[in-house]
Amino acid sequence: MNRAEDLEVAGRTVLVRADLNVPLAIGAGLRAMGPGGSPPGQESAPPDQHRITDDTRIRASLPTIRDLLARGAGVIVCAHLGRPKGDDYDARAAGGPSLAPVAGRLAELLGQPVALAADVAGESARTIAATMGAGEVALLENVRFEPAETSKDDEVRGELAARLAALADAYVGDGFGAMHRKHASVYDTPRLLPHAAGQLVLAEVGVLRQLTTSPARPYVVVLGGAKVSDKLAVIGNLVGKADRLLIGGGMAYTFLAAQGHRIGDSLFQADQIGQVTAVLADAAKAGVDLVLPVDHVVADRFAADAQPELVPGPDIPDGKMGLDIGPATSELFARKLADAKTVFWNGPPGVFEFPAFAAGTRAVAGAISAVTGLTVVGGGDSAAAVRHLNLPAGAFTHISTGGGASLEYLEGRDLPGLAALEDGT
Ligand code: ADP
Ligand code: MG
Repeated sequence: MNRAEDLEVAGRTVLVRADLNVPLAIGAGLRAMGPGGSPPGQESAPPDQHRITDDTRIRASLPTIRDLLARGAGVIVCAHLGRPKGDDYDARAAGGPSLAPVAGRLAELLGQPVALAADVAGESARTIAATMGAGEVALLENVRFEPAETSKDDEVRGELAARLAALADAYVGDGFGAMHRKHASVYDTPRLLPHAAGQLVLAEVGVLRQLTTSPARPYVVVLGGAKVSDKLAVIGNLVGKADRLLIGGGMAYTFLAAQGHRIGDSLFQADQIGQVTAVLADAAKAGVDLVLPVDHVVADRFAADAQPELVPGPDIPDGKMGLDIGPATSELFARKLADAKTVFWNGPPGVFEFPAFAAGTRAVAGAISAVTGLTVVGGGDSAAAVRHLNLPAGAFTHISTGGGASLEYLEGRDLPGLAALEDGT
């Protein structure tokens, strides 16, 4: 894969596909909206009321942009934000979210103006590109205002890709969090220009490659989060690679149910029982130590102010739901992590957003941060948990900016964005 740092860029205009999909809150004190998880009806708030609640992804995009600017390029950044809704460009652009707050934050961090195009690859973008000088930065509007960006039709995406490519002389792919999407700005545009991978993508891929090719052992994988169905593919692949699989969070209950335990009203995906049973059998056959919770913190409802109760065994009584792993499980997981040389963590083991149910996540994060070796956190909510719990970010070797992309990489799938950057020269 070509490196952006090796591209000849002086006096040229470079289109950088970045991942600037940051969480936004609308106005003060209103509900937060996760990347891509915008609550309906809130996207129409005026852009000046959007507040960025976590700028990690913007910061992660800076090294590549700064390097290109320093070497005399004009940089046009292309990115998506949230999930614009509507049948055509006008409806989506009217509904938002606009990248305006991101342009503002990017300008602050770069310490120079960032011109925001009024469109993605139309009149405004073309004018900015045509008049842009060396060392200047512009940001295109939310690329998902263009319905073609996510189209399944190659020709439809190709038309948008051609308009994007016409804005620049070269393409740099640095949006790791979008690399698993076969989208116009990720997959089709690089084919039309000299292209290379940015520093963030190279760093992410470097770490993930270490996890998939001869990881130092013991290799321990900690999985949690809400739905077991989201993670079955990656578990299936890791059964053949990891030495131990520690499973907590909402997904653990379907495993416990498959083993015949009572799980009360805990999160449960009945349709996944067959596959979960197969994973348990595969793990046993491969000699993988698959560890499930041995105690729980439960409540009678899913709420921040619900009364936490300790259940000292694996079975959860009727009327109660497991919202965190218990202290014996935290200790068990910590023991299984103590001698690890490689750790991959995806998915919080409890509902860490509720302080009464955050102890398990804090304990597991602490045990992982004590490991000397390669420790990687992947997953949007897991990375958010690390920040939320005020754990030192330096305690982990790497916190991935791309949840879905890092999981798909570990599943052994080809990421379309990476494939496009590898093709040709
Ligand atoms: P990631 O984004 O890191 O991949 P997921 O999206 O899979 O993680 O899951 C994160 C969510 O899982 C968190 O919002 C957390 O509250 C939730 N979760 C963890 N444990 C439980 C549980 N016992 N019951 C319900 N939800 C849970
Ligand atoms: Mg998530």
